Amino acid sequence: MIQCSYIHEDSAIIRHLFNTLFKKYKKKISPHVLIPANQHSITTKQISRNALNVLHRLQQHKFTAYLVGGCIRDIVLGVHPKDFDIATNATPEEIKKLFRNCIIIGRRFRLAHVRFGREVIEVTTFRAGDHKKSLTHRITAKHGMLLRDNIYGCIEEDVWRRDFTINALYYNTMDQTIIDYCEGMRDLKQRSLRIIGDPATRFKEDPVRLLRAIRFAVKLKGHIEPSTAAVMKEAAPLLEHVSPARLLDETLKLFNNGYALPNYRLLEEYNLFAQLFPQTAQSTYPAKNKWLTLCCASTDKRFQQKKTTSPTFLFASLLWPALMVTRPRRTITYSEAIRTLLRQQQNRIILPKRYTLGIQELWMLQTKFIRIRPDDISYLMQHPRFRAAYDFLLLRAEIDSNCVQSAQWWTHFITADANTKTALIAQLSNRKTQHEPIN
Ligand code: ATP
Ligand code: MG
Repeated sequence: MIQCSYIHEDSAIIRHLFNTLFKKYKKKISPHVLIPANQHSITTKQISRNALNVLHRLQQHKFTAYLVGGCIRDIVLGVHPKDFDIATNATPEEIKKLFRNCIIIGRRFRLAHVRFGREVIEVTTFRAGDHKKSLTHRITAKHGMLLRDNIYGCIEEDVWRRDFTINALYYNTMDQTIIDYCEGMRDLKQRSLRIIGDPATRFKEDPVRLLRAIRFAVKLKGHIEPSTAAVMKEAAPLLEHVSPARLLDETLKLFNNGYALPNYRLLEEYNLFAQLFPQTAQSTYPAKNKWLTLCCASTDKRFQQKKTTSPTFLFASLLWPALMVTRPRRTITYSEAIRTLLRQQQNRIILPKRYTLGIQELWMLQTKFIRIRPDDISYLMQHPRFRAAYDFLLLRAEIDSNCVQSAQWWTHFITADANTKTALIAQLSNRKTQHEPIN
């Protein structure tokens, strides 16, 4: 077993020693964890040119550098990787010195982003394992969550800091071997999502792993391994301790990746949906499940058709059942109810202003779409949120018979020629307007 040294971000001398040590240990990876090139399907052709360049430059400067994580998992699964991550024994500062297009980010985990136009290669320094020596630099909150973890180690330790076995595969471009310390390849083949180490401790350290577990289990089209699954429901409330900004990122990844429906179902199964959308979870709106299923399925369909899927529409959909029950005695106005709901939701998931403004507009337009007034029509047609609000109305019509007539009227109106449009408006003026049930 390799003895690893510990290094803190500020210590330049130790860093130097650390690098010297690693050059010596470079060849010592135990052969039983190596999968040679002829036993797997990964080739350099499947790897981004920019990632290969970053690896090459690090290796030229005598650093150890491997591809790691999701990109290896995805290539083995036959999926095109979303991004390429690299693990190395170079510290963030050393990486920055090698690449002019590099910035160091993160506080909890400091890491380097090397930018090539729109592509970002994430380069992380091997992290140290659990060891008494490291406790001074690993800061943990009362509930066991890691707040800071900037002690660097070697690949043999780094592997145990990763979340799931299928995310802990390293690929060495120098000899095309896969380095597999925790039977990630076996789990990939069996489509089994297994957390590394003690499940309860690892979820406590970082409760976002609960959401990642759902996302990867769905991506695998597989199952969550029983001992990992066993602690997840109980661990769900730990998500309260995660920052609302981080939860925004994770929620978008769950609902905006073409698998919104299976992710939603699994989130529900593990009591995690209520952690992200407490008001929706508590809502007694009778058509709630039907609505959420419909919205997720429609988002996935758009994704498959390569149509845009906007976060505004997504959050407006996921929060709609909560809005539907906010005014049982009509003590507040519709717009006050919207503002209150969005304010409450921000405690869980931070919603940038452009999203909240969009959600408010989309919901406000619903009222105008149903109580159609001839004078509003030209304003509505030119409204930048018109198309989204119309699509929203069509979805509503699928579960709510009160909306069917309005949806049909708008569909007819949009597709009509100028003369028919005039006639439709004239008919409206001669008729009593319909009433929006929520207003
Ligand atoms: P994708 O990029 O497709 O979302 P990924 O597995 O590459 O999936 P990233 O967020 O890019 O996910 O992270 C890269 C790697 O870093 C992961 O594969 C995993 O090894 C490690 N990692 C990421 N987040 C965590 C975490 N919360 N806890 C432990 N390891 C993590
Ligand atoms: Mg990744």
